[in-house]
Amino acid sequence: MKYQNILNKAINDQELTFDEGVFLYEEAPLEALQKAANQIRINKTNPKTVSYLIDRNINYTNVCITNCKFCNFYRTPQHDGAYVLSKEILREKIEETIAVGGTRILMQGGHHPDLRLDWYIELLTWLKKEFPSIELDCFSPSEIDNICLLENKDAETILKALIEAGLQGLPGGGAELLDDEIRQKVSPKKISGSRWLEIMEIAHKLNLHTSASMVIGFGENAKNRIKHFDLLRNQQKKSLNKYNNGFIAFIAWPLQHELTPLGKQSQNSGKLGATKEEYLRNLAIARIYLNPYFENIQASWPTMGFKVAQEALSYGANDFGSTMLEENVVSQASTKTHKFILVDDICKLINEAGYKPVQRLTDYSIL
Ligand code: SF4
Repeated sequence: MKYQNILNKAINDQELTFDEGVFLYEEAPLEALQKAANQIRINKTNPKTVSYLIDRNINYTNVCITNCKFCNFYRTPQHDGAYVLSKEILREKIEETIAVGGTRILMQGGHHPDLRLDWYIELLTWLKKEFPSIELDCFSPSEIDNICLLENKDAETILKALIEAGLQGLPGGGAELLDDEIRQKVSPKKISGSRWLEIMEIAHKLNLHTSASMVIGFGENAKNRIKHFDLLRNQQKKSLNKYNNGFIAFIAWPLQHELTPLGKQSQNSGKLGATKEEYLRNLAIARIYLNPYFENIQASWPTMGFKVAQEALSYGANDFGSTMLEENVVSQASTKTHKFILVDDICKLINEAGYKPVQRLTDYSIL
């Protein structure tokens, strides 16, 4: 069977071609994909354990001028509901995170037109001074690009200044689908796929922790999705080769569209998002197509629910993600997402799925 030959190639750590990826996506039975993805997960990571992180997602501002059609989180600068979090609120949130054993904050926000580089530097400097034990993974590539535009400076200069102030990692948000054919339709004012990758490459060069993300369900086809994997895999090879640093992990989730302008306006809203089977197929293909360059793949409990996240552990995922403590972006796009999970519950879910839970740091070192 043709698909089995392709899967065997991946299991033996040989890179698949673009056409082979598309063929698997369109033709291979889900069961065969699951078996191969699970085998690669067993070969690449500790087969007995599943890792998780205790952290908090903080959205420092919801002000944004980019108007992505799939976003229900942002507010225009003049909107009554627009906010920028004060230091008092940030302090409260971080103290709560530390109290439950948290090791990181993942801080992202909209593209604020008035917050300048000095504001970000002051914020990071304060955070590092007040909470030296907390890792600061902040600002996705599109937020970095926004600061570049405001300051008329290149991304390396901006990132160096932020690192100097305490930045340790760049979250992988804003990748959605890196194929510009799709980006043009759903987020025409956001950075291109190549700019997202360019900023990530600079982050790798500067030794920051980064992750890669993917959102499926904009009405794209298998070629668009394999193109996303292909762009990530090429970047990963390049970054590992040049800087010995690359994406630490990959995570995908289906578009949550119910409450977004895209979901409300689309006459084909039935075609948006992804079913459980589609999510698991995409996850398995991620493990197969990104092999051998990506080690860690996360399950997405906030969008898929706890039961599917448990199933995902046999489709190539080796990590249950993080506790988050709060989630404000994806959850505002739908009434069906989960916002946070307690550490005991994460451990229980991992145990129930047949693995030993292990707490990790951002760089996947085990505590
Ligand atoms: S997804 Fe991000 S960039 Fe797009 S509108 Fe929402 S906050 Fe702004």
